[in-house]
Amino acid sequence: MTVFFVGAGPGDPELITVKGRNLLERADVIIYTGSLVNPKVLDYANSAASVYDSSSLTLEEVLDIIKKAISEGRTVVRLHTGDPSLYGAIQEQVDSLIKLGIPYEIIPGVSSFAAAAAAVKREYTLPGISQTLILTRRAGRTPVPAKESLPELSKHRTSLCLFLSTQALEEATAELAEGYGLTTPAAVVYKASWPEEKIVWGTLEDIAQKAKDTGISRTALLLVGDFLGKGYNRSCLYDPSFGHGYREVKRDD
Ligand code: SAH
Repeated sequence: MTVFFVGAGPGDPELITVKGRNLLERADVIIYTGSLVNPKVLDYANSAASVYDSSSLTLEEVLDIIKKAISEGRTVVRLHTGDPSLYGAIQEQVDSLIKLGIPYEIIPGVSSFAAAAAAVKREYTLPGISQTLILTRRAGRTPVPAKESLPELSKHRTSLCLFLSTQALEEATAELAEGYGLTTPAAVVYKASWPEEKIVWGTLEDIAQKAKDTGISRTALLLVGDFLGKGYNRSCLYDPSFGHGYREVKRDD
């Protein structure tokens, strides 16, 4: 019996992968991150499955549920929000399973940073603007290495997506403005892909206040960078004068 770590996607139940849904349908035991996973995703589960919300559990308690289920020959799905590789605290679970000799697999999911880009209908990697996306968070109770502080990262002026920092938007935007400048475009996307999704547009100067005025205090991402602005160069990839392995240069003659 295997434990499947499954990315539930950002909220919309249709944004789980086919593989993830198939596993949910046949799981005997499901442990999901109740604080963030849309409960509607659990509608895919077998009605006979035992379902646990991990938000009130410790790592040890989660492991106890997994150990018991596996010893009884039951299939376990550990459902994480978005993609499990980002702020999912899966490594400590994985390492414990290795020690216990329990096999596991990880099924990726659509991260909220992708859902947020879809919500604002923008591309993070615009030619001539930025070819890099920084996914980060502000230090909270979980520390962030000094070399990754927001003032430090802001020096690169890349496209940036800030997780887990909605409660400290004022501090975050002030720190980011050190490198980006106050006029850099910014957006806050609340509950991307959920029915209650909200988007607030602004600049690093005013986005924190605008988000506050809209009542957004959690489950949101701050997007920052000129990719949210207007100008950019068209791509080389689809330019007629740019040939590559799949298409020769188009000539007028
Ligand atoms: N693994 C998840 C991230 C978990 S950390 C992923 O890949 O998306 C939790 C943080 O993610 C939240 O504090 C919030 O910043 C962000 N988040 C998760 N779902 C979101 C959504 N639907 N819309 C906006 N932000 C979201």
